[in-house]
Parts: sequence; structure tokens; C-alpha cells
Amino acid sequence: MAHKKGFTTTILHSDRLGKPEHGALHKPIHTSVTFGYDDVQDLVDIFQNKKKGYAYSRQGSPTASALETKITAMENGMATITFSTGMAAITSTILALIKKGDHIVASSYLFGNTRSVFQSFIDLGLDFTFVDATSIEEVKKAVQPNTRLLFVETIANPATQIADLEKIGDLCAEKGIIYMVDNTMTSPYLFNPKKVKASLVMNSLTKYIGGHGNALGGSVTDTGLFNWENYPNIFPGFKTQVKPEVFGITQIRKKGLRDAGGTLSPEAAHSISVGSETLALRLERACNNAFALATFFEGHPMIKKVFYPGLQSHPQHKLASRLFLKYGGLMSIELDESIDCFEFLNKLKLVVKSSNLGDTRTLAIPVAHTIFNELGREKRAEMGISESMIRLSIGIEDLDDLLHDFKVALG
Ligand SMILES: *Cc1c(COP(=O)(O)O)cnc(C)c1O
Repeated sequence: MAHKKGFTTTILHSDRLGKPEHGALHKPIHTSVTFGYDDVQDLVDIFQNKKKGYAYSRQGSPTASALETKITAMENGMATITFSTGMAAITSTILALIKKGDHIVASSYLFGNTRSVFQSFIDLGLDFTFVDATSIEEVKKAVQPNTRLLFVETIANPATQIADLEKIGDLCAEKGIIYMVDNTMTSPYLFNPKKVKASLVMNSLTKYIGGHGNALGGSVTDTGLFNWENYPNIFPGFKTQVKPEVFGITQIRKKGLRDAGGTLSPEAAHSISVGSETLALRLERACNNAFALATFFEGHPMIKKVFYPGLQSHPQHKLASRLFLKYGGLMSIELDESIDCFEFLNKLKLVVKSSNLGDTRTLAIPVAHTIFNELGREKRAEMGISESMIRLSIGIEDLDDLLHDFKVALG
């Protein structure tokens, strides 16, 4: 009987099975910008999409490809393209697939920079509607005949709202809308968006997949579920060269990655690739730490509110239990008014005051003053972000050390 390898085994052995030189277990860091061919026909065929290969590494390198193979396997997808950052992945994909006159529905609970770049698209003339994506009714009301793409995150950052992922997937499938899911917060280890009919899955590789806070990267995976054949914005030149299944991914690579130029460096691809080998182990530990800390905070008199999908009190706790393997490493807390938020943060000696998330180390940041500062108080309130909210990205430290640090800081 055919045996399907598990999540970690697949990632660990992926490079090796691609047969790198000398029996190496890692794909080498290929730094060449360009690639030469003995027969010019090979170069021409690569340009014309008739043959797989490399021409100029802005649109792909062997090291990035090896990582793309792994992400495709993790997401159970058809093909993946990597980018220099998660933001480059989002921006390039929208630039590649959307035209003037098209409409996009997006969750109003979004990563701050995603919301910011969507504002830039609005300023350029694209039409967006932002909705409470936890409610399918709200999402349905926002869809128009010219809606081409629907964008949601799995667990929103920082207030941990969970989009109604399954029902939105059904809606998009019925209406022929591209369903783009930002899976950064869950990562493919906790959640496979293809199960809820996602068309495109985006990941910030900077976060859990790379995992060590030492390289930036992003990716977009085509799950193979969307029917690109009649999608109106496919560039005519691609239609004659490639099969309809790969219209979308070809256009994202050429019009998105190649033209916008947000290319993942081979060095970063290598770092992320090595980091990804322990994704499951790190996340297991981070999720267990986060669950224990959320339970501790919930019972603490100095904590007013805890936002964590693993708690029964979380509005989408049942949905999270059904869809995700675990509840993630991210949570937010609101302190009692009697504690000064900055004083509390400065008392933390182990937890790092820092803006990243998905690192191996536990990081804390006051949300309203930093990552959501530009938005202003009113927009923050719409997104469920209070002025005293602190976001915590829980790492893989020993739990007792984390508990000790928070206990001391809470006094
Ligand atoms: C960090 C993040 C991004 C952007 O990724 P970068 O790699 O920092 O550009 C997008 N979405 C979410 C949910 C993120 O957390």
C-alpha cells in the first residue's frame, strides 16, 4: 500500500530526494544571478515557458525552488512561489491578478502593513470592501458581481479573531472568486487552508516557517482548486504557452515576482529552509507554552482580558478546535487599569520587547503605540484593538522561566 510520509519527514528529506551534488543533504546556496546554456534553444525554451529552468534569478533560483517544493508539500498544494518578504508576496499577487474595475473583499482584521498596502491600492483606484470576516453574512453582503478576490487571515493579529474560513470557502467556490488565505499565524503545520477550499495560500516565511528571526521571506501557494481557464485577467501571451491549471501561478511568477522584483535571496531561502525542518517541533512547544500562559493570565487579577483561541471564552473557540491542530503561539492581553503598560513591559527580563512574531524567543509589544500606531484610535477600535493591548508571541523557552518572568512583572 502507498505510504504517505508525515509532515516533518517530508520536509527533512525533500532536498536530498532532489539529488543535490555530492550526496549533500541540503540544497546548496546557488548565488548565480544568471544561468548560461550550451544550446541557445534551451534558453529560448525557458523564456517561452516550454521548459523548466533558470534564466535570470529575479524570477527564480535553484535554492528558492528547493524551498518552494517544501512549502508546496506542507500546504498540500500544486505550486509555490517565494518572495523576499510576506508583504512582497501579498503585493505582487494582487498586482499580478487584479485590474482596474475589479473588486476585492478583505477582512477588516488584518496585519497592519497588509491593511496599509491595501489602502495604497485603493488610492491607485482599486475597489476594496472591508468586512467582519468572522461573519459569513457580512461577507456575503460585501460580494459584488465584479468581486475577483477575497482575502482573509486565519487567526488575525493581534486580537485573534478567526475568519469563518469554511463558509467563506464555500461562497468563493460557488461564485468563482479567488480565495486568498494568509496562513502565517497558523502555518501549514496547524492548518491546511486547502481543506476550506482556499485558492491561494500566503505565508510570511519570516515567522513560524523560518522560525528563528534570522531571515525575511514570503510565499504564495496555488492549491490547484481554482479554475483559471476563464479568469479574465490572464495575459494573452501566457494562454498560448502554458496549460490552464498554471495560468494563475505563471502570472504571479511573471507579472508579480519578475516585474515587481521582490525576490527571495538564495541565502535567505537556505536559512528558511533549514528553519522549516523543525517547524512542527517548535510549534508544538510554542503552542503548549502559549496555552499554559493564557490559562495563567485568564485567572490573574491584574489581567483584564486575554485574547487566545485556546480559551473557552474566545468567541471562535469551537471553530479553532475544529479547524486547527493547536491554538497557535500568539495571544494578546489587556492589563488592569492600575498597572502601567510600559512599566509592566520594562519589568520583563526574559521576554523581549520586540515587534516580530513566530520567533523561537518570546516577544512582547504594546500594540496601539507601535504596529497599529499609524491607523489612529478610531480604526484601531474598529479592529478590536484597545489602547492598552499587549501582543505576545510565545516562544519555545522553558515554561517555568516564562511563568516566572510574567509573575515577577505582574507584581
Ligand atoms: C508578518 C506578517 C505578514 C508580512 O510578512 P513579512 O515577511 O514581515 O513581510 C503578513 N501577514 C501576517 C499575518 C504577518 O504576521
